[in-house]
Amino acid sequence: MCMFNKLKHFINGEWVDSSDSKVIDVINPANEEIIGQISDGTVEDLNYAVQSAKQAFSSFSKTTKKQRIRLLNRIANEYEKRKEDIVKTITLELGSPITKSEERHYTMGLSHFRQAAKELESFQFTEEHDSTLIHKEAIGVSGLITPWNFPANQVATKLAAAIAAGCTTVLKPAQLTPFTAIIIAEVLEAANLPKGVFNLVNGSGKVIGEGISSHPDIEFVSFTGSGPVGKKITKNAADSVKRVSLELGGKSPLIVLDDYDMKKAANIVLSNVLFNTGQGCAAATRVLVSQNKHDEFVKSIKEEVPKYSVNDPQLHNTFIGPLVSEKQYNQVQEYIEKGLKNATVVVGGTGKPEGLEKGYYVRPTVFTNVQNNMAIAQEEIFGPVISILTYENLNEAIEIANDTIYGLAGYVIGKDKEKIEKISSSIRAGRIVINGTPADYSTPFGGYKQSGNGREWGKYGIEEFLEIKAVIGEAK
Ligand code: NAP
Ligand code: MG
Repeated sequence: MCMFNKLKHFINGEWVDSSDSKVIDVINPANEEIIGQISDGTVEDLNYAVQSAKQAFSSFSKTTKKQRIRLLNRIANEYEKRKEDIVKTITLELGSPITKSEERHYTMGLSHFRQAAKELESFQFTEEHDSTLIHKEAIGVSGLITPWNFPANQVATKLAAAIAAGCTTVLKPAQLTPFTAIIIAEVLEAANLPKGVFNLVNGSGKVIGEGISSHPDIEFVSFTGSGPVGKKITKNAADSVKRVSLELGGKSPLIVLDDYDMKKAANIVLSNVLFNTGQGCAAATRVLVSQNKHDEFVKSIKEEVPKYSVNDPQLHNTFIGPLVSEKQYNQVQEYIEKGLKNATVVVGGTGKPEGLEKGYYVRPTVFTNVQNNMAIAQEEIFGPVISILTYENLNEAIEIANDTIYGLAGYVIGKDKEKIEKISSSIRAGRIVINGTPADYSTPFGGYKQSGNGREWGKYGIEEFLEIKAVIGEAK
């Protein structure tokens, strides 16, 4: 088995030893074996990284748009050269099926760098308002804290936006999936990013994450992950009045209209939720079907689920790999148990699929007769679990859809344009997806309500890394 020994942090343009010898084991969730180690970084390591980012800021924030476009394109070119490593690593550390690591995970990472370069072409850093010039300036040293569920995408969307804005950065990737982030650091090194612009410190959320959120020299924290950690970061950041951008979880509703083919609808739902073994913050996990179509929809789900095979992520026909960790496995089992007690199971259940006793594999599970006040309808399960609810009319469907603390995404499947318009304007969420249409990378991504308070991707992501300055009397 390939062993990654990546004990160094990337600070000030160099691979450096940690100030402590403590290490963290990284596990392949498909076989529960250790695949490598990283350093359990210290506050001292973090301080060195912040200092180098601070030093680099004065010159990097003054680079021209043209220079940063060239840099982002160089990064994208170097990233492409590492395709094979990135794809293999995502599969090893996350358990994502190899075809999905390539088609989705790898591609998302690349697209954010390319898109940021493209956005910069037309991005206006200066506007004129009568006698005042409004300048958008890089906000400063930025702390980036990322989760494990999209190791390339989450790191790339934050880094591409920060670099486009002229910010310098300190990244702390999730300790469950650090090796993709390390390859991205090597990519930035190969692209000749000026030293100190990007720094990577590995370690725990407790030490490095909290160190970032409370560091007086960090001006902005961009975080993706769970709600409780997001709230903690916001509280820690308050003492230094840091700006914080949060991308948190969701329990996104999907409304199926009666006028659509139920078999097609079932496949849109299944491919959405089962992708990444259900470990997606925008997954359409709360499905609303009219009472008239309920039985037909459930029948289609039952018939279609077996086409989404759970298996070793190295195999090309696998759609569902293992969950990322034992902790995640236990969390999903608990929710399936709750569902079995309170609702009706359509397919799946607790335990591991046959023949997959080693690894954190779970059975894709669908419940019906779910009431919206049940835990399986309100809480983020982060596994391949779908809850089906019924509605009598469109107003009730919208009311149920909005009856959640979250607001990351909403989905509609149907043909009637008026109904679709009514749903998309009524659901309180940052992104509405119609009939499974794929998003392009200029589209904003982020949540209403407790799903967050920021936007990433495209020009919206770049805006997050900017401050606004008025120079009065500068314009003529
Ligand atoms: P998490 O605990 O929020 O972790 C996300 C990142 O924050 C990791 O890098 C983590 O570090 C770091 N972190 C942990 N504690 C921190 C603290 N006190 N201060 C600053 N940073 C801290 O999420 P998770 O453990 O990966 O997953 C837990 C649940 O979060 C999941 O079950 C899911 O519901 C949700 N989640 C949502 C998303 C999303 O995209 N919205 C993504 C992932 C997870 P370490 O883990 O390395 O210590
Ligand atoms: Mg792992």
